[in-house]
Amino acid sequence: MEKIKKETAVSTNEATHLAKSVLSRVMQFRRMIEECQDNCTTECPKCHAPHKNKVATAIMQNKKIRFVLPGFPGKSPNLAKVLGYLPDMAEKQALQFLNDLCSQIQEIYEPGAEVIICSDGRVFSDIVGISEEHLTAYQIEIDRLIDELKLTALSTFNLDDIKKIHDFDQARTELLKNYGQDLNLLKDKIKRGGKDAIDPDDIEANRMYCGLTRFLVEDQMFPGQTRSKSAIQKECKEKAYLAIIRSNAWTDLIAEKFPDAIRLSIHPQACGAKKIGIQLLGIETWTTPWHAVAVNTNKGFILMKHSEVKKLNSKLVLDEYGRSSHYELISQN
Ligand SMILES: [Zn+2]
Repeated sequence: MEKIKKETAVSTNEATHLAKSVLSRVMQFRRMIEECQDNCTTECPKCHAPHKNKVATAIMQNKKIRFVLPGFPGKSPNLAKVLGYLPDMAEKQALQFLNDLCSQIQEIYEPGAEVIICSDGRVFSDIVGISEEHLTAYQIEIDRLIDELKLTALSTFNLDDIKKIHDFDQARTELLKNYGQDLNLLKDKIKRGGKDAIDPDDIEANRMYCGLTRFLVEDQMFPGQTRSKSAIQKECKEKAYLAIIRSNAWTDLIAEKFPDAIRLSIHPQACGAKKIGIQLLGIETWTTPWHAVAVNTNKGFILMKHSEVKKLNSKLVLDEYGRSSHYELISQN
């Protein structure tokens, strides 16, 4: 297809056609729930439907296609999963992938695309047990990496940007006051999204709840933990509800702040969902850069739990500042 030049006026038909190509490129890297994987292609009209008008409108206006992605909340506090509290090679790989995706879009649409990473860490750091100081350091380092790696299609937005207040509890209270939803309504939605559900939003709510509960439980299973797993599970289920209410409030704020943006998600989505689930390393992986360690295999980077890679024949690699960066598998031959 011929590249559309910046100065060329685009007809509605052309814009619709190009929007389809752009979405198909993004869909190559999407995360889908298992039940939909066999039925949806990258061209699936139902999967394109919630996003195509936003993409076409940006094209008609010759503007960058804007994506928002809540994520990069801060490293898990469990050192059995991660190397430390700062971003490392795992985040670098994910940021690089997101920037590359925008470059790929620019190949077919010159104004290109951008991803605004809307870090949701401050929104629920007190629930997941990340210290405010570690979170601040993580956020600063993500911005520095974007700069250092010249990832010009990426930028960040977080709760600290809304008001320059340093009372984070107050910021969270205000967020919930303005955007918080009712806990019982959320619980009903999660229940509806279980087995035999049909509404993609209900399905996602249920999966998000299960996924988040799993991560919260894992975060607590650090070496030396003395509490029983069932007690931790019970507590984490309640924490997951609170974290989702906060996360949804953050989603609503983002939608209001960036009304033209296409919403990406780190969670797998059902066919026709309002969000596009995205693979953060360009490969399907069950975890995220902030719950794992990057491992360089002879086929590129994958993510693993820190405790698991340590059992393999591998060595720790430091970055240019002497900080733990990732592991490298040592070949067996
Ligand atoms: Zn579909």
